[in-house]
Amino acid sequence: MNARDLLKDKKRIVVKIGSSSLTHPYTGNLDLVKLEVLVRELSDLRNQGKDVVLVSSGAIMVGADTLQFEAKPTKLAAKQACASVGQARLMMIYQKLFAEYNQVAGQVLMTKFTMTNDLNRRNARNTFCELLELGVIPIVNENDTIVTDEIEFGDNDNLSAVVAALIHADLLILLSDIDGLYTDDPRKNENARFIEVVECLDDHFKEMGKGSTGSKVGTGGMATKLHAAEIATSAGADMIIANGRDFHILHRIMNGGNYGTLFKANPKEEFYLIDYIGRI
Ligand code: GLU
Repeated sequence: MNARDLLKDKKRIVVKIGSSSLTHPYTGNLDLVKLEVLVRELSDLRNQGKDVVLVSSGAIMVGADTLQFEAKPTKLAAKQACASVGQARLMMIYQKLFAEYNQVAGQVLMTKFTMTNDLNRRNARNTFCELLELGVIPIVNENDTIVTDEIEFGDNDNLSAVVAALIHADLLILLSDIDGLYTDDPRKNENARFIEVVECLDDHFKEMGKGSTGSKVGTGGMATKLHAAEIATSAGADMIIANGRDFHILHRIMNGGNYGTLFKANPKEEFYLIDYIGRI
């Protein structure tokens, strides 16, 4: 059976949404129509009996907008203040929208320390398992309000891959403002070719990352997405990078449609999550 068709049978799915996919490009305000579609798509996956985890960025953007900053702040204390306000507002909106589809959302905020400390990591895993057992959709973000350089993931691409590994998800979908992996940056090189499937993420593919983001609001470029792919696929999950322009893409992907780049799971027997976190 084709690798895309096998996606229909995935049972535990982590979906990561970047800030740029949640907000209007010119105003930075939340795109409520898109959020509605996202919540409906995720609720439908739950209705199919799948475990669903949403890793949502946007706390700092929403806070900056609420507190009337002209742009995303760069000063640490200002970012933390924005995250404090924005995360609460974002959750309020998610709770409301999920409730309309009879789904319950919970919040899980993490730092790198949550993963490197054995006790915290076990606790986090237990919390996720219990939430999923109860049919809740955990909504995850970095705890930007208290995070400082030493304990930050810095981007939700890696965070979502770590979460996928932690809870033994079988699929991670990163929705971003790019279509997937190209042989080169398509914004700079018109001959760049799109890659539909990566069977094995070797150095040849990693070279294609080169760390461009192209987005004013998100933090993760292609290099971080490829690092996330390394974590997720080594842990045993398939991963897809696709364009989050239209969140209807989620059911199209789950129905086996040819969207984005599929990185096939390549489980490593000696996979030890902490080793990968050290390199984030
Ligand atoms: N955690 C940040 C936020 O919610 C976003 C990080 C990212 O863009 O990857 O604003």
